Order: sequence, then C-alpha cells, then structure tokens
Amino acid sequence: MAKKQFKTESKKLLDMMINSIYTHKEIFLRELISNASDAIDKLYFRSLTDSTVSLSRGDYAIWIKADKAARTLTIADNGCGMTSAELENNLGTIAKSGSFDFKKNNESPEGIDIIGQFGVGFYSAFMVADKITVMTKPYGADTAYKWVSEGADGYTVSESDKQSFGTEIILNIKPDTEDEKYSEFLEEYRIRGLIRKYSDYIHYPIKMDVTNEKLKEGSENEYENVMETEVLNSMTPIWKRPASEVSAEQYNSFYTEKFYDYEAPAKVITQKSEGTATFTALMFIPSHAPFNYYTKDYEKGLELYSSGVMIMERCADLLPDYFGFVKGIVDSQDLSLNISREMLQHDRQLKVMAKAIEKKIKGELEKMLDSDREAYEKFFDSFGLQLKFGLYSGYGMNKDTLKDLVLFHSSQDKKYISLKEYVSSMKEEQQDIYYACGESDEKIAMLPQVDAVKSKGYEILYLTDDVDEFALKMLGTYDGKSFKSVTAEALDIATDEEKDAIKAENESCSDMLGAMKDAIGAVSAVKFSANLTRFPVCLSSEGELSASMEKVLKKMPGAEDAPKANIVLEINHNHPLASRLKELYESDKEKLSAYSKILYSAACLISGISVENPAELTELITELML
Ligand code: ADP
Repeated sequence: MAKKQFKTESKKLLDMMINSIYTHKEIFLRELISNASDAIDKLYFRSLTDSTVSLSRGDYAIWIKADKAARTLTIADNGCGMTSAELENNLGTIAKSGSFDFKKNNESPEGIDIIGQFGVGFYSAFMVADKITVMTKPYGADTAYKWVSEGADGYTVSESDKQSFGTEIILNIKPDTEDEKYSEFLEEYRIRGLIRKYSDYIHYPIKMDVTNEKLKEGSENEYENVMETEVLNSMTPIWKRPASEVSAEQYNSFYTEKFYDYEAPAKVITQKSEGTATFTALMFIPSHAPFNYYTKDYEKGLELYSSGVMIMERCADLLPDYFGFVKGIVDSQDLSLNISREMLQHDRQLKVMAKAIEKKIKGELEKMLDSDREAYEKFFDSFGLQLKFGLYSGYGMNKDTLKDLVLFHSSQDKKYISLKEYVSSMKEEQQDIYYACGESDEKIAMLPQVDAVKSKGYEILYLTDDVDEFALKMLGTYDGKSFKSVTAEALDIATDEEKDAIKAENESCSDMLGAMKDAIGAVSAVKFSANLTRFPVCLSSEGELSASMEKVLKKMPGAEDAPKANIVLEINHNHPLASRLKELYESDKEKLSAYSKILYSAACLISGISVENPAELTELITELML
C-alpha cells in the first residue's frame, strides 16, 4: 500500500511531538478523550433531528482499554466516526485549531509550554506511541476504514472490518527508555489519575476495562459485551461540583482549555445563589488581557447554561462592560431551554442574576486588593483601564461599584495607591485630593506645580491614562473630598498673606499683564502667581476643562468642534524674572512681547503641550542671542 506524506506543517509538529519534554506527554489522553467526546456530541446533535439515529443519550460512552502484554492503549467511542475523506482531511493535516498558537509561540523557549497548556490534538499521541492505528466507521455507513501511521514518514488508509460505528484509536506505546517510563500509561492507576485530572467533566461516561481480557472481535458492541467496566469520570460539570471538592489544578486546566488561554487564571470565583435567582456560576479573572481586549473585536460575556445544557455561548447581558474581562459559566434552572436571544435580554431573572454576579465580582476584587496586593496590582495593570472607563462612562452611575477598585500612581513613591489610602494619609489641613496629568510619571514629576504642591507635603495622584481625569470628574468627590488638579488656576496652596500680596500685584500690573496676554494671543490671562517654587512660569487652566482634557478631546473624532481650555500663563512672583518683566514694560515693549512669547512656549513644553509655532520661537531665541 502506498504511503502518503503528511503536510509539511504537520510534519514539523510531529517532530516536535516526538521529541517533546516528558512532563507534557500525559496530555495525549486528554486530547484523545476530548476528540471522542466531540465526536459523540456530533452524533448526539444529529440524533435530535435525524430519526435514523436511534440512540438515546445514555447509550453513548468512551472506552479505554490498556493491554500490557501487547503494549497497546485503546481509546474508543461510539460517536460520529469518519469517512475515508474525513480521515485524510482530519488526520493527514494538522488540526486548524491548535496550529495558530503553536506557530505563534514556536520561536520562544516558553513556546514549548503551549503543548502542555493547550495540547495540539490528535498528534500529541505520538509523544507516547510509536504507531497509531485509527479504526473508524461513520454511523449508518457500510464501510469502515483504518488509518495507520508510525510517525513522520507518513500514513496509510485502507478498508477495515470494524463492525460497530464510531472510532477506535489504538496506540502502540513506545518502549521504556532510561529516563522515560512509557509503560506507566498502561497502568490503571495512572490512567485513572489522568482522567480525573483532565477529563472529569466530560459529560459522557469514560469506561475502563477492568477485566483486562482481550477484546473479542466481531461482536456488534465490542466494548459493552466484553468489558467489565468502571466509569472513571464524575461527569458532573465542574461548576456544579462543590468548590471544596475541586482542586486548583482542575479549575486551572478547565479554564485554560475552555477559554484558550495559555496562562492559569489570576482568580477563580465560584458562586452559588438561591432565592430570587437560583444559579451556579464559575468565573475566572484572566492573568493577562487577551490581545484584542481593548479593541472592538473583543466580545464580553459568560457562557449560559440551563440545567447543564448550554443555551448561549456568550451572554453579554450577564456582565457589565467594566467587568467584561471576566470569563466563565452560569448555569440556572430558572431559564427555559428554548428562550430566544431577544427574550433573554428582557428576562427579569437574567437581570437579577447579572446584579448578583456583578456584586460577587466586586466583592472578590476588593478581597484580592486587601489580601493579595501583588496579585491585584498585576490584575490592575491588565484591566485597570477598563475599570476607569467604567467610572467615566455611565455618567458616574457605577461609582459606588468602582471607586474603591481603581488605583493610581502617586508622588509618594511611585507605587499604586487607592483613593481610600490617599485620603487616609492626607495631611490634617489638606482639603482636596490633588492630581496631575501627563504622559508619564517622570514627565508629571517635572511639572512646576507638582514641585510646589509636593513642597507643602501633599501627595499627588499621577494620572497617565487619557481617561483618568475624566473618570475623576465623573466621580466628583471621594469621601467628601474634591479632586483638584495641580494645574488648575484655582490651585489654592498659598498662605492668605501671599494671596493678598499676589492680588495686589496683579492689580497694579494689570496693564503689563494685559500687554503680555495680547502678545501671546493663545492664553486667556497672564498672572503673577504664588503656586510656584523654583520655576519661573507654568501654565494652568481656568474653569472645568483642563489643558490635558483638551488634549484628549483633540484626539477624538470630531475634534474640530471640541471645546478649548482657558489657559493661563502664571509667572512666579518670587522669581527674578518678575522684576525683569516689569522693567521691560517700562523700557522696551517690543522685547517684552518677544519674552512673553518665549515664556509661553517654554511653559507649553513643560506642560507637555506642543509649541504651535516652533519656527517663530526659534527666530525669537536666535534674535536674543545675537
Ligand atoms: P482538533 O480536535 O483540535 O480539531 P485533532 O488533531 O485532535 O484537532 O483532530 C482533528 C480532527 O479529526 C477533529 O477535528 C475531528 O474532525 C477528527 N477526529 C479526531 N478524533 C476523532 C474521533 N474520535 N471521532 C471522530 N472524529 C475525530
């Protein structure tokens, strides 16, 4: 019989399988059992609409048989089976599903872990077998087929005499080597352990032959008749089992397989609710944001079941947007199996469930923040932005849910702090919660006003995400304290005496300040200020809209109509520059005008705002130099 070649891609994968490190080898059984379960699902779904399939749910099973003498491990199912074309397509080329991630991670040394986390389907059997035989017969077909391969050099397909429908996979287990005891995969205890670990929630019975007799050939139902079997899996979906009976490892492997993540979740949340809404939920907070998380391709939602039967793969209404990163399953007996998507949206029961789920997630995150700060900060690095968007959107409607979950960096030691922590360490006379905006902590730290507020001993929240200031505006106050931007013109850190002196000075110099304002053009005022320590000038904004908010709004679609901030150029009244400007106003108005423009540009640069006319600025500076 002519040997057929595997597709190139499959060949590479095969090589990798054959040479993979030992700890991953065990997942082959999980992969083959999942395939068997999928094949049974297919036949079962067909039976719902096709009356020629005369099987009831209880007839389906997966059988495992280990034959130590022959060194074979057989995994059989009474699922849909494969035609010869399907055999070619499915087993002659690498499975589409696993291959993408495999290739993506192939370069990095950690990439190897993909095998352990995902498995790569059928081929993983070559990690433990040097020959694989697949006997298969589609339900209702007359002909059965046999696929045989000894690894990378190809495979053969021929007809076979398999009587019963379904698929049977016979692995010839590799001989033991010095380091690798493949024989253990023929041991009952080892197989039991693997099934409990990986395949416990498979909802068809996995039956193991405990008689250890050879299979009788030719009978209609080879397995049931010959084997004295024991069911190895509990079949109860993992979310229906009491959390105390499920190991962390089982939850983690359920998560990584079900939600295609290579990393275990940061947190597992189990919820059981009775009363107004009866449901069980098993939820996970991922350890990292999916690559498409902050794009519109990402779809939030929980998988919805009605008494163990899935009714919707991604029910978005069960999760608020700001907890959209949560993955999981909700199972309720209160929902009808035949409920339509539209009806579900208006379902009162669903709304009650969503409320309870939201409360649960909030509580779990708060607990994490209290008890495992490091984990919470890692979580926040991934999903904090989403929480801040949550504060902002909904017009502050969600503030009670979210205000204690958001963290910011601060001037203190560049660590994350919560608003609660900020307030609890406020100075006695301090009225407001100070914040400053900028591109990075480093740039914010350079702001003149940050310097001034820090010199008073006040802590400042560092806002580096575009949404931050908007989120704080929506929040309004925290614990009765207002938020105050250090770059607000109304920043009020001077003593009463200083304020009086400044007021008098601004009044007496109003002509000069007016002339400076006219020279600059882009500011709403030029003022002397006591809000500065070392720096000669800074920019602040008057009114509700700050310069940083304006900057964000400018980036949005429709920016032409975006409102403008009222920018004030503040001059440090204690700086020698102040008297120099006054001199110039008397002696050289032209120079004062040039100085004003230069100072404004310098203040823009300090604030992280780009200079509107760099050519003019260069000219002005050069002129001064000549
Ligand atoms: P995946 O399961 O990720 O698609 P596999 O390499 O494990 O990839 O399997 C490839 C394909 O072979 C499956 O999609 C399925 O169509 C078919 N297959 C594998 N095992 C069985 C089986 N026991 N019964 C029927 N079809 C199977």
